[in-house]
Amino acid sequence: MRYSGFRVFLEGLRGNRGWVPAWREPDPKSDYDVIIIGAGGHGLATAYYLSRVYGVNNVAVLEKGWLGSGNIGRNTTIIRSNYMLPGNEPFYEFSLKLWEGLEQDLNYNAMISQRSILNLFHSDTQRDAFVRRANAMMLAGADAELADETQLRRELPFLDFDNARFPIKGGLYQRRGGTVRHDAVAWGYARGADSNGVDIIQNCEVTGFHIKNGVCKGVQTTRGAISAKKIAVCVAGSSGRVMANAGLRLPIESHVLQAFVSEGLKPILRGVITFGAGHFYVSQSDKGGLVFGGDLDGYNSYAQRGNLPVIEDVAEGGMAIMPMIGRARLLRSWGGIMDMSMDGSPFIDKTDIKGLYFNGGWCYGGFKATPASGYCYAHLLAKDEPHPVATEMRLDRFKRGHLIDEKGQGNQPNLH
Ligand SMILES: Cc1cc2nc3c(=O)[nH]c(=O)nc-3n(C[C@H](O)[C@H](O)[C@H](O)COP(=O)(O)OP(=O)(O)OC[C@H]3O[C@@H](n4cnc5c(N)ncnc54)[C@H](O)[C@@H]3O)c2cc1C
Repeated sequence: MRYSGFRVFLEGLRGNRGWVPAWREPDPKSDYDVIIIGAGGHGLATAYYLSRVYGVNNVAVLEKGWLGSGNIGRNTTIIRSNYMLPGNEPFYEFSLKLWEGLEQDLNYNAMISQRSILNLFHSDTQRDAFVRRANAMMLAGADAELADETQLRRELPFLDFDNARFPIKGGLYQRRGGTVRHDAVAWGYARGADSNGVDIIQNCEVTGFHIKNGVCKGVQTTRGAISAKKIAVCVAGSSGRVMANAGLRLPIESHVLQAFVSEGLKPILRGVITFGAGHFYVSQSDKGGLVFGGDLDGYNSYAQRGNLPVIEDVAEGGMAIMPMIGRARLLRSWGGIMDMSMDGSPFIDKTDIKGLYFNGGWCYGGFKATPASGYCYAHLLAKDEPHPVATEMRLDRFKRGHLIDEKGQGNQPNLH
């Protein structure tokens, strides 16, 4: 079924009795060309591009819970391509371009809103680092714009420019950055993949791999054994646990990241704002809630909820740049499990086991990567070679010493 304004009008006249479910609920078949493990944003996007761009339709996406129950339904919805390193920036810019055409491509309203992102800076050295990043972004075809203090005082008078510890000196804008309705991304890709013949199978946990003589031939699931020529793991925060079933250890740790939303307020924030001297970011949803977050909970965990010290830390970050946030009441908070890689950058690669592929290590930035991650993973699965914008996202980069460490922080997941 194609969605359109005319269809909404017609269904209104017919008492909305003509709508059909957006995807089927098939039983698993015994054999597929490709099995994708995990129906998060990346798994569903991979299935969609495999079937639409690369013509591989005999595909199953296996999900242990319900579609969208992981990080795709828990993130703070920010998209941007303001990276610096050559291993990252072309990939994220490719992703932003895919976002820009996604609603037409999927025939689905994902509420893509390029309302801008602003990274604040608080010192001259930080300004210089941002200028360097802006130049790298422009060389990769992205947009970047430096704003000085006078401009920001005019545009955002509620920021605490004269904070004694963290005075705001300016910021780096990416006007094409913004927000997207996260669940709609999962639903849109699921609907698109399903209509291309992909089987999306919910409540089907993968519990093991069938590996013989170094070749992966299928998976064991809570709904029986399923064989496939290629198995594509795409389970974000569960990466370590799932890959351990294949005997592989990853340069990834799992940590909780929390997020928060305030009561609905009148429009005050046009775009996304991030704190440059600590970890705090905030935007305003279309319903009026201030959506914000900050640091990871510092210890390893697979719990999808966090603890109070981080809530205090995030509140302090908010108060440091935007004291008026202290007057807003918190409506709710939640957590998701982050697949934190040791250099802060992701992996889209084959493994040493033939037929077994891995996508993960997205840290807290994987939502914006969803379209490019799906596209590049589909490319790898279809052609057995990396997509040109994902050539550096290899599993062996730590062995080779070719890290993609945007901030130069070293192997400290909490600092990326
Ligand atoms: C609080 C928070 C805020 C964030 N904010 C942003 C942001 O503003 N911008 C941004 O770019 N990124 C953000 N992120 C990160 C982003 O959400 C993730 O990097 C991205 O969603 C991960 O990819 P995914 O959607 O495929 O993961 P998920 O949705 O987690 O998908 C993985 C799926 O695998 C399934 N699975 C696990 N094990 C198995 C198994 N054994 N068998 C079958 N299925 C299995 C899980 O149930 C899950 O549905 C945020 C994350 C959190 C938690």
